[in-house]
Amino acid sequence: MSTKAIYPGTFDPITYGHINILEKASRLFDKVILGVAAYTEKETLFSLQERYELCLESVKHLSNVEVYTFEGLAVDFAHSQNCTVMLRGLRAVSDFEYELSLALTNTTLNPQIETVFLVPSLRYMYLSSSITRQLAELDSELKDFVPPVVAKALREKFKKE
Ligand code: ADP
Repeated sequence: MSTKAIYPGTFDPITYGHINILEKASRLFDKVILGVAAYTEKETLFSLQERYELCLESVKHLSNVEVYTFEGLAVDFAHSQNCTVMLRGLRAVSDFEYELSLALTNTTLNPQIETVFLVPSLRYMYLSSSITRQLAELDSELKDFVPPVVAKALREKFKKE
């Protein structure tokens, strides 16, 4: 039986941390769907279309990863895509409480979908989209944190007139 996993998130923007999780997942599962969420409680720097395009560019080396945007609940999107696994990344302690409540909520909403946590390689353990946005705003070097296409997009956003 082939196993399809979904990796949902905001990806504002996608970082080497997300990509690290996707590389691991692409070896573990037959197919991985990267789901870029339209809904987010946070205001995003990049539009949904921009977040989607940056994800698409950043995972094109992974042949079994597909990128989609989705509206509404991640469990509903997972179900519509026939995914039985919901992937999330776990970094330091700070992620744990939020991720645990999300996993328990999702399993209540749809018990058929199992949440699986993947831990990134040590060098990405503290990397987040918000850190890359701050670094870009402060005009820092970005090459260790995001792919070149994302670094370029971040620079454009914070370009001084
Ligand atoms: P969300 O708003 O849904 O948390 P994010 O794009 O911030 O969306 O994150 C999506 C998933 O990727 C989350 O499970 C998050 O913990 C995980 N993640 C983000 N950055 C990293 C990283 N550097 N290493 C591992 N997992 C990460």
